[in-house]
Amino acid sequence: MTEKPVVLLPEDIQRIMGKDAQRNNIMAAKMVAEIVKTTLGPKGMDKMLVSPTNDIIITNDGVTILNEMQIEHPAAKMMVEIAKTQESEVGDGTTTAVMIAGKLLENAEKLLDRKIHPTVITKGYRIAAEKAQEILKEISLKITPDDEDILKQIAMTAMTGKGAEGAKEKFAEIIVKAVKQIQTNGKIDLNDIKIEKSQGNSIKDTELISGIVLDKEKVSADMPGIVNDAKIALVDFALELKNPEIDTKISISSPEQLQSFISQEEKTIKEMIEKVKASGTNVIFCQKGIDDFAQYLLSKENIYACRRVAKSDMEKISKATGGKIVSNLGELGSSELGYAQIVEEVKHGEDNLTYIKGCQNPKALTILIHGGTGHVMDETERALKDGLGDIVSSLKFGLVVPGGGAIEIELARRLREFGQSLSGREQLAVEEFASALEFIPTTLAENAGMDPIDILTELKSRHDSGERNAGLNLFTNKIENVLEARIIEPYKIKSQAINSASEVAIMILRVDDVIASSETSGGMSGMPPGMRGMD
Ligand code: ADP
Ligand code: MG
Repeated sequence: MTEKPVVLLPEDIQRIMGKDAQRNNIMAAKMVAEIVKTTLGPKGMDKMLVSPTNDIIITNDGVTILNEMQIEHPAAKMMVEIAKTQESEVGDGTTTAVMIAGKLLENAEKLLDRKIHPTVITKGYRIAAEKAQEILKEISLKITPDDEDILKQIAMTAMTGKGAEGAKEKFAEIIVKAVKQIQTNGKIDLNDIKIEKSQGNSIKDTELISGIVLDKEKVSADMPGIVNDAKIALVDFALELKNPEIDTKISISSPEQLQSFISQEEKTIKEMIEKVKASGTNVIFCQKGIDDFAQYLLSKENIYACRRVAKSDMEKISKATGGKIVSNLGELGSSELGYAQIVEEVKHGEDNLTYIKGCQNPKALTILIHGGTGHVMDETERALKDGLGDIVSSLKFGLVVPGGGAIEIELARRLREFGQSLSGREQLAVEEFASALEFIPTTLAENAGMDPIDILTELKSRHDSGERNAGLNLFTNKIENVLEARIIEPYKIKSQAINSASEVAIMILRVDDVIASSETSGGMSGMPPGMRGMD
């Protein structure tokens, strides 16, 4: 009797099983790590990304690179997720996180080759990850918000080798000052720091404005260009005549009737502007429209006005100036008004911006980036955001670690020591985990054109002899005490990177069957040539 084949899945389903599935996923993950590897550290290179519409991005930022690449392989996508998590949790360390995950998987492959079962590897990795967190916390150094100098050094470490490098001291000062200023009751919300860009001058001219810079001009040329001692009204309704065609149905049978209707509406507007004036307002920001007639009346009263201000900007102006956003003119009195020393329209290259500055104890601020081209400003912004993220997490956790690979070497050393207490196979996994961490210093060296093996050997022996802060200083290209050289990073970069890298590595290792429906299977085979691990 011949058995009929059993058909479980439709034909257009792609399925890879067992070792093939594992190898294919590991390969894809390794490739992702390989892509970002050359950008790591101060001597890392940048990448130029060209979109289908020919937009160009030049960047050194791990998460930006991976985001723009439109990666489709499912395991590779999980790697991209690590970068995204790192970006949202810390704002820096994206390359590091992805590289550690890639290396964890690459090293796991070695163990798979030695016929060690994936569950043993994942167990060992889990133990190692937990222990690594414990050690990390133990060897991190405490800082307080008063350690401004250290905070500045952290921001500078984040920006070394990036777009903002040329002015990193100034940037570090701006970052630390801005973050401390917006801190309220120990809470920091980076949304309160507005980043605005203005083409022209150089990035060295980037400035911190104690207030808000709005990408808006005043609505009418007849309004004052500058207002000193600004009393600012914030309204979220329109200062407009109601449009009879759209808003309401009224029947008008004669031109006189229409005229009287319009003058009635004009009267309403007049009353509105009178109320604005009566409150003492000399600057008004309106979230909706301001029509010609209202503009005319405001100009006559010498009031500076901007219309269609984004809600998020309205909120920032409110935080910066202390003004309240009102939804009803009846509520508008002098106590609802915000204050700024100066509100003025400033021409920047092609644009006119509105500066609201000299706010007293503003709880929202603006960093105004200057730069020759859009690409330069965009990359500067990314570097600046890395620095901002680092300062926030340094303040939040109050813990920092030495950079330049020092922390990774020390972690690896202590992990190996700890591994000795484990059974044979798990010990192997812990060792591979430790050596995955060493991928960071070896890559820092490699990207700087130094010999990674020599560097690793020396780093290890220095740590073995008790120099726990020995790292690779890429200012001097020497191995030395990097804390003294002020190469410092927040603890959270490393703890988050280790956490998400190990989680994803473990998750990928546990998969031994990939079943992809036809739409998504394009992703498995549809990677660029050279990224296809399984065809
Ligand atoms: P990530 O996306 O992971 O933040 P970066 O390109 O910002 O990647 O590189 C961060 C790494 O560069 C960290 O390991 C940090 O310690 C290291 N680093 C920064 N400045 C220096 C320096 N001057 N010398 C050596 N290493 C440095
Ligand atoms: Mg970084």
